[in-house]
Amino acid sequence: MERLEVKNLSFSFGVTQVLDEINFTLNKGHVLSIVGPSGGGKSTLLKLCANILNIEQGEINNSFKYCSFAFQDTRLLPWKNVIDNISLSLLAKNINKKEALLKAENIAIKMGLKQEDFDKFPKDLSGGMKQRVSFARALVINPKLLFLDEPFSALDIGLKKELQEYLINLVENENLSILFITHDLMEAVKLSDEILVLEPNPGRVVKSFKIDEQKSLRDTNFVYKTSAK
Ligand code: ADP
Ligand code: MG
Repeated sequence: MERLEVKNLSFSFGVTQVLDEINFTLNKGHVLSIVGPSGGGKSTLLKLCANILNIEQGEINNSFKYCSFAFQDTRLLPWKNVIDNISLSLLAKNINKKEALLKAENIAIKMGLKQEDFDKFPKDLSGGMKQRVSFARALVINPKLLFLDEPFSALDIGLKKELQEYLINLVENENLSILFITHDLMEAVKLSDEILVLEPNPGRVVKSFKIDEQKSLRDTNFVYKTSAK
């Protein structure tokens, strides 16, 4: 069974210890949230798990084959249009250009983007549209594990709900796993199977709880709408 396993993970930036002995396991088809105040080491922990930062102490075993990311600040490439931003990860996988474009367009529509947006550049998109593109880019490779670093924080409530419902559907029906970072406990409760609370200086898990009744909190019967409202 695919899993992400973090064992005794500690990390420092120079002399400042940011993470202290973090342990958790994220199993296939589950959502694990890391909640805590700003500066607590959440983003650092996610970057270590996602192999964006190199680990120093401890161990991370990730057996998920396809992983993607979405961040609060989207990090779209400013010199590429919407469709090229989305299809980039497919082209990097040697999928031919025509097929990559088709897949990118399909997921873009599912994320509520419209045909007329496809050749726009990030600077001409609203924050919400950029996050739609960012999710399309993350999902176009059919990831098994998603790393999410506060991707909903700057979004209005309608778009937040729409994107969250789309993800929940993938978790419930396609066994997507998510490592979710947020400072919003309610959001974590709504989306997760398990929550770790990280307190700063140095980042330590001070509480962890499983949400047994989660299935009733998640609205699995929604009908996902493919167009922007
Ligand atoms: P969070 O995501 O919970 O807000 P971060 O992981 O971003 O926390 O940051 C944790 C601590 O590490 C903060 O004190 C921050 O200033 C520090 N930090 C983050 N990135 C770097 C870096 N690249 N170099 C030095 N210190 C950093
Ligand atoms: Mg952060």
